Amino acid sequence: MKTYDVAVIGAGPSGIAAALSSAKSGADTILIEKNGYVGGMSTAGLLNLWCGDIQGGLYQKIRLKTTEKRVKRSVYNTEILKEYYIDLLQEANVNILLHSVFLKANKSESHIKSISLLCAGDIDEIEAKIFIDSTGDGWVAKSAGVNYSKGRPSDHLMQPMSLLFSVGGVDETCAVYPTFNTNPDLEEKLKKYVKEGKCSEPVGHVILIEGFEHGTANVNMTNVIMADGTNAEDLTRAELLTRKQVPQIIEFLREYVPGYKNCYLLQTANTIGVRETLHFEGEYTLTEQDIQNQIIFDDWVVSNASSCFGNHNLTGSGSDENNLPYRHERYTIPYRSLLAKGTDNLLLNGRNISGTHMAHSSYRVMPICMGIGEGAGACAAFAVKHNLPLREVPVKEVQRILKTEFGVLNPQKNIEI
Ligand SMILES: Cc1cc2nc3c(=O)[nH]c(=O)nc-3n(C[C@H](O)[C@H](O)[C@H](O)COP(=O)(O)OP(=O)(O)OC[C@H]3O[C@@H](n4cnc5c(N)ncnc54)[C@H](O)[C@@H]3O)c2cc1C
Repeated sequence: MKTYDVAVIGAGPSGIAAALSSAKSGADTILIEKNGYVGGMSTAGLLNLWCGDIQGGLYQKIRLKTTEKRVKRSVYNTEILKEYYIDLLQEANVNILLHSVFLKANKSESHIKSISLLCAGDIDEIEAKIFIDSTGDGWVAKSAGVNYSKGRPSDHLMQPMSLLFSVGGVDETCAVYPTFNTNPDLEEKLKKYVKEGKCSEPVGHVILIEGFEHGTANVNMTNVIMADGTNAEDLTRAELLTRKQVPQIIEFLREYVPGYKNCYLLQTANTIGVRETLHFEGEYTLTEQDIQNQIIFDDWVVSNASSCFGNHNLTGSGSDENNLPYRHERYTIPYRSLLAKGTDNLLLNGRNISGTHMAHSSYRVMPICMGIGEGAGACAAFAVKHNLPLREVPVKEVQRILKTEFGVLNPQKNIEI
């Protein structure tokens, strides 16, 4: 059995950031991923746009290196990003283990002693002093028995899932790139198209993002509601339904959307995108009020985060009408929201930190998940270096390291984006 200081499970934006800051802080770090490449939703999910923002730190470095301005927004190429992530991880001497699926946490009282992985057909065990759950759905925390609730409190419904795809043949001289509610005319046409039975429900909003390559666009329009991303049958239903929606949406684009008359399918994402599943019990649960009030937590590990409340409609198409207004809040995330209750050596990371349904709809974006990961990795490495339990990490010391070593900025209210 191999032993590491820090084991990061899941190599999405949050896991990559955690592994980098942990290894750069001197901890012997392993990054474990079920896919044959890293990046999570930022590569496998075919997303090509950083939403929201966080100032300073690793995200800004990655954004500057990978992102280019196209027609309206700054977008990246998922293949280039895959390679860049690997370069960064290798430079930092992170041990990378691909094709390895987390199976279970082997726990004694509150301590995770090891984890079992399905490594290309064999079941292997890995020991570490600290584990960082960066799986998006929180598989490590769930297996370790951390309490959780699903989705929104009133009915436990979770945000819809979508399979992204890209198209070529886009005429950039006249193409439009709408998002929620920015082109009501097109949304009406799509709703009529769905009513006529030409597209499988609950499709109904038009979100098009200019591609990194000229003449391409990424399409975020497939939609599956009332599905649970922790249930394989629901995930299968979602994969099958969205693959049926893809050609139907392309027909719609060709017929109705300026600039897409000659568009054709380039690529679908490798996996359905799951926006929301479990909300774990941490030492502190981040709320929408904390975000709106721009609370500067004493134990912040993320500073200057900003993103709207971005719940999609949980029972139909479009955005959720209960979303709170976006006031360009800059907020912080406390270390306590990463500390999983009932465990002494597990940190929650990325979209599975402890937060409410509404708060999650804001911090789930990739830049903020990277910021969370950067904080998690630095705290884990500090605990290892000083032989401290996670709950005794002096977060002010880590904040100093985040600022001096990683370029994270002091929290400030009301700074412009
Ligand atoms: C459809 C959709 C569209 C979105 N659009 C945007 C957007 O445009 N811009 C934006 O900024 N954000 C967007 N988001 C949000 C954002 O992509 C995610 O919230 C973010 O990627 C979460 O980062 P993460 O690192 O926590 O998890 P993920 O990116 O989900 O990464 C988790 C990683 O863990 C791995 N993993 C999972 N289970 C296991 C296991 N058992 N064993 C080993 N490895 C495992 C996965 O393969 C994956 O690599 C979107 C999300 C969705 C679903």
